[in-house]
Amino acid sequence: MSGSDSDGVTLSVRAAEKRDAGRGVARIPEMARRQLGVLSGDTIVIEGENGKSTVAKMWPADPSIPERAIQIDGDTRANAGVHVGDTVTVRTTDKSAIRDAERVTLTAPPGLTASQRQVAEHEAAKTLRNRPVRTGEQIRVEGVDQEPFTVVDTTPGGDVRITSSTTVRIAGQSGAASTSQAATSTETGASEREDSSTDSSAPAPGGTDGPVETNADSSSPSGVTYEDIGGLDEELELVREMIELPLSEPELFQRLGVEPPSGVLLYGPPGTGKTLIARAVANEVDAHFVTISGPEIMSKYKGESEEQLRQTFETAKEDAPTIIFFDEIDSIAGTRDDEGDAENRIVGQLLTLMDGLDARGEVIVIGATNRVDSIDPALRRGGRFDREIQIGVPDETGRKEILEVHTRGMPLAEDVSVDALARRTHGFVGADLDAVASEAAMAAIRNRPADEDELATWNQNPTVKKRHFDEALASVEPSA
Ligand code: ADP
Repeated sequence: MSGSDSDGVTLSVRAAEKRDAGRGVARIPEMARRQLGVLSGDTIVIEGENGKSTVAKMWPADPSIPERAIQIDGDTRANAGVHVGDTVTVRTTDKSAIRDAERVTLTAPPGLTASQRQVAEHEAAKTLRNRPVRTGEQIRVEGVDQEPFTVVDTTPGGDVRITSSTTVRIAGQSGAASTSQAATSTETGASEREDSSTDSSAPAPGGTDGPVETNADSSSPSGVTYEDIGGLDEELELVREMIELPLSEPELFQRLGVEPPSGVLLYGPPGTGKTLIARAVANEVDAHFVTISGPEIMSKYKGESEEQLRQTFETAKEDAPTIIFFDEIDSIAGTRDDEGDAENRIVGQLLTLMDGLDARGEVIVIGATNRVDSIDPALRRGGRFDREIQIGVPDETGRKEILEVHTRGMPLAEDVSVDALARRTHGFVGADLDAVASEAAMAAIRNRPADEDELATWNQNPTVKKRHFDEALASVEPSA
């Protein structure tokens, strides 16, 4: 077999660079590129260990990336059925095997309105150009929504490349009516169930068959991936170590006779990405994601909060693997004292429930707080939230990455420098920078030309300029 062009190169999966997210790009090191004999922009096939495979466009990796690594984004990982840290085999594709697509049909993620669909069709035709795709894959249309679209049909079939003459059509959501009912569960209770996996019932992770709404109260899956998190590389690494391993390889812990953690506490100011990290990790390991809001559970009638907690843990176990995200945990788990009767009971219940999580580590609780010192010490002892990870206010490099995430789908004018914006935004946390990017886009829309012809040209090619960011910066206050 050796020497045949079906021989692949084995590489270990890493998250993509933020700027590459949603672009169907795979960055590989120079050595692998030479071994495969491919050039920048060529299509490569990435095969996961479970036999699933996908196509992507090859670009060179930064020399600082290890020699045996490949950088691919969350959608490409899902399409190849792999996670960060897994091994893939990369092969070249016979150039004649990939044909130009005449037509590509995508299905929209749930809840997309008719006007969003129009925008998506317009954007997809532009942003997906040159991209290799195959039926069944999930892809993102930047600037439209965080959720992925699914390729449901291509003409011709097989591996195809989207070109400037490809017609990209967005079909309505199959099955459920495309009303916005999917978004309703968010504010309805202290506990919200979501199916964050694309195919959670299958034993092999990373299915691509689109969201499976299994349950009346599950909302749409979260499409957050590691590429949506700016900065926080080390923090994310720690969270992953604590959560991915126990969820993906529970046997390892059993064999070594160590108890996997049942809780991780993320602490830091609001808007710094605690929820984002929890969602991304859940998505990445195909775990269910349940949110409990501390203040909301506190507002229940006597006894109801404990019952609700118990039920949430019960369902989490049934649906395992599950990540329970406990937001503002300080509001329930403040230090117990003689007066805080309700708090005492709820903290007591939480302690019991966390101690009752079995050693297989299939349910993990992530607590989030901005007041770590006010958490009951009993909750911070071994076996419960025994890892605390600080999620701090981003520095300039972090701010730059966060701005890159939030301007990714935005047509920026040449006079916009993300570096300069990062320097100017001292004290801004992720949520502030998200607001700056949205405000700048709104300013661009507000200031678009009044003249009809000019407006038509602008609409063809809208851009966000530096002065729109100046306007945005004047209206968004830094949190820190
Ligand atoms: P927290 O849970 O720490 O209060 P969130 O994770 O809910 O904050 O962040 C709120 C929003 O701010 C996110 O949805 C995202 O748009 C933005 N954001 C916060 N931190 C980051 C980050 N590190 N990278 C990118 N976006 C971020």
